[in-house]
Amino acid sequence: MTKKKLLIHGGTVVSASDVAPYDIVIEGERIAAHGLSGAFDPASFDEVLDATGLLVLPGLVDPHVHFDSPFMGSKTVHDFHSGTAAAAYGGITTVISFSTQPKGSSLLRNLYEHERKADGQAYIDWSIHGILLDSSEQTLLEIPELVEAGVPTYKCFTTYRHSDRLMDDDSMLLVLRTTAESGGMLMVHCENDAILEYRLARELDQGHTSWIYHARSRPRSAENVAIQRVIDLMKEERAPVYIVHASTAESVQIIQKAQSQGDPIHCETCTHYLVLTEDLLNSELGHLFICSPPLRTQRDLDALWRASRVGPIEIISSDDAGLPSADRTRLSEGRFDKVPNGMPGVEPRLTMLYTEGVKKGRISLPRLVSLTATNPARLFGMFPQKGSLAPGSDADIVLFDPDIGWTMSAETLHMNTDFCPFEGRDVFGKPKTVLCRGEVVVRDHELIGTPKHGRRIVRKLDRSVID
Ligand SMILES: [Zn+2]
Repeated sequence: MTKKKLLIHGGTVVSASDVAPYDIVIEGERIAAHGLSGAFDPASFDEVLDATGLLVLPGLVDPHVHFDSPFMGSKTVHDFHSGTAAAAYGGITTVISFSTQPKGSSLLRNLYEHERKADGQAYIDWSIHGILLDSSEQTLLEIPELVEAGVPTYKCFTTYRHSDRLMDDDSMLLVLRTTAESGGMLMVHCENDAILEYRLARELDQGHTSWIYHARSRPRSAENVAIQRVIDLMKEERAPVYIVHASTAESVQIIQKAQSQGDPIHCETCTHYLVLTEDLLNSELGHLFICSPPLRTQRDLDALWRASRVGPIEIISSDDAGLPSADRTRLSEGRFDKVPNGMPGVEPRLTMLYTEGVKKGRISLPRLVSLTATNPARLFGMFPQKGSLAPGSDADIVLFDPDIGWTMSAETLHMNTDFCPFEGRDVFGKPKTVLCRGEVVVRDHELIGTPKHGRRIVRKLDRSVID
């Protein structure tokens, strides 16, 4: 069977290092060649996509979403079907979701169960991260098998003792050692449990139950202390670590310092920490903005943009974990500490970062591509298959129209929720056409792909990440 040949013609191509006008040739699932505009004869292609006036980006990778995940008595709004559809509309061609892990059960069995749920349901490519809740003999034995199965990254928590998910220092050391030995990378949710529990008790004692006390009871110090602790433990057992959702001005300074001393530490922040502040918790619908770590202040937001521009932030993820608003309202009983945490965000990410980042001069276009496509692919073991427009890479491509001005809202998006954290914001730019492995998934703003297309990506970390 001859491979379908497709030409992307007349666009401005943005890579992690460059912005330049050229045409891209796709053969089958891969990028085959580049050339100056007009170098290829359109008549020799099965299809020509006119990208005049559009930015041509590598398909985005969102390495932090929670699809099909039960949480605090509710369940995330996105499963693989609805989540990958919304992701495709948002210019994303690969997602990495987290498995869910009942305490004491097998990492591998949970992984396979999660994979079975995703199989045949995803419009775009996908992979999974494991979750570690302990350092039992079984867990430590299974980590190398997980890495071997193409899942070299897994997350643990420094908090949530009350729900038995806390990884204490003793366990963390064992997990770090096993991680170093097996070629994996440990992802860590950093908030110091003792500080959170202490502050929570104090606020409740004083009768403070309104939404804003979510932020007050999860102070920046809890995050900063927990990150520093992980770095200190890494001195004992040197292993690659990825700090998920850094949200404070100090956290990025602490990580920067460790990086400059040669520690193999990486970090991300999320769209919402770069756009929203804790002031939103003061409103009547403030509970819908509850996430952990909490939204912070303008000072943090400015520091996170700077860290996104020059480091140490290497990735901006969505942490998509939307929950039904009705569930959140009902389960909260009007108290901040009972609200299931998490917000949807897989679809708005590119447009929001283009609007708030590129249009406002905070990051360049190539940096936007680094933060949302190239670095996630590189750090999570999928580069150059993903996150790249070089010949040989998967033809995962977004044709982004930078000139469309629109108002973001749950109504105008395609996420499976009535809540949009960026409701009513005037934004710029929209993915117009999206290809995943050479197949057009979104054409002219309409989803035309099939949930049979998405494929599990087998990941393997590069030495540059591990060392
Ligand atoms: Zn998360």
